[in-house]
Amino acid sequence: MSIRPTVPEKSLTDLSRAALRERVTALGLPRYRADQIFKWVFQKGIRDFDAMTDLPKALRQTLADDGWTIGRVTLERVAVSVDGTRKLVIRLQDGGAVESVLIPMGEGRFTQCLSSQLGCALDCKFCFTGTLGLSRHLTAGEIVDQVLVARGAVPEGAVVDHLVFMGMGEPLHNFDHVVASLGPLTDPDGPGYSPRRITISTSGLVPQIDALGQVAPVNLAISLNATTDEVRERIMPINKRYPIAELIAALRRYPLPPRRKLTVEYVLLGGVNDTDADAQRLGDLLRGLSVRINLIPWNPFQGPGFARPADDRVRAFHQHLDRRGYTVTVRGTKGIDIDAACGQLGERPDAA
Ligand code: SF4
Repeated sequence: MSIRPTVPEKSLTDLSRAALRERVTALGLPRYRADQIFKWVFQKGIRDFDAMTDLPKALRQTLADDGWTIGRVTLERVAVSVDGTRKLVIRLQDGGAVESVLIPMGEGRFTQCLSSQLGCALDCKFCFTGTLGLSRHLTAGEIVDQVLVARGAVPEGAVVDHLVFMGMGEPLHNFDHVVASLGPLTDPDGPGYSPRRITISTSGLVPQIDALGQVAPVNLAISLNATTDEVRERIMPINKRYPIAELIAALRRYPLPPRRKLTVEYVLLGGVNDTDADAQRLGDLLRGLSVRINLIPWNPFQGPGFARPADDRVRAFHQHLDRRGYTVTVRGTKGIDIDAACGQLGERPDAA
C-alpha cells in the first residue's frame, strides 16, 4: 500500500512561494501576481478565488478553469473541553480525518498541535494513534491547512502563537512534506510564525534528526520515554532500529541555535519506566545537554494495559531531576475529557 498522498495535486496550499511564482509566470503573468495570490491564501486564509479582489478576473478564471483549488480540508467538528482545550476534527479530501488540538496557554494564547500523517507506523505502545497504523502521509498543504482552518475555531480575540508537531503521526517519517510546510508557515506574507515558535517532536529517527538540523532552525523535541534499551524496545519498537545511545549521540550533535534547549518528553507509565533508578539513569543520559524535560503522566485509553503513575511517584521523579539542576515540567491532562490529550488522538469507531 502506498503511503504517498493520493489526493489530487492541485491545491494552492501545497505550493511553495517559488512554485507558485513558477506557475504564474508560466501563464505569462508578472511575478507579483503570485505574491498577491500567496498573501490571499496563506495570510488572509481566503478559500474562494472570487474574493481575491486585486487580481484580474481573467486570472482568477484561469486558475479555476485549470482545476486549482484552495485547500484540501474541511473543519468538520470542534469539541471543547471543560478546560478550554479544543479538538478539531479535520476531514481530508479523500475521506480520512486527522485531529489537531488547540491548547490554551493563558492570557488568550493557544498552542496548536498539528498532525503530520493519517495514522502512524511507529506503533508506540502507549499511544492511541499508534494502534491505527499508517494510512498515508499528509501533504504540506494539508499540514498548513490545519493552521488556516483553525482560525475558525479560536475564540474571538485569542491568538495561536506556537505550533507543535505532536499530533497524529511521526513528523520526521513524513520529512519532505513537513519541511515543505515550514516554508509558508514561517513566511512573513503567510501565517508568519518564527521558527522559534515551532517545535517538531520525534520518536527518534536518527538520520532525519541529522537532516532536520541542516535545513530548519525549528525547536526539536524527542519522545524518549525509557532509560534502558530493553524497556524502550518494548514500548517503542523504533528503538530496535535506533537504540538510546545512537539517539542521544544525535542530540549531542544537533546544531542547536544559541540559548535554545531541546525538549525531552518522557511519558511516565506506572511500574514500567517511573522508578528512582529510571530518574537516575535519565539524569545521567542527558548530562551536558541543553534540555528541558517534559514529564507526561500517561493519559489512559482502553487496551494497552498501562497504568497512570500515582501523583507521589510523578513528584519523586520530578524532584530527582530537579535536584540535579534540570528544567522539568509536568504536562497536565488538558483535553483528556474529549480524547485530545497527548497520545489520545485518532478517530474512534464510535465517533459521532
Ligand atoms: S507517539 Fe507519535 S510516533 Fe509514536 S505511535 Fe504515537 S503518533 Fe506515532
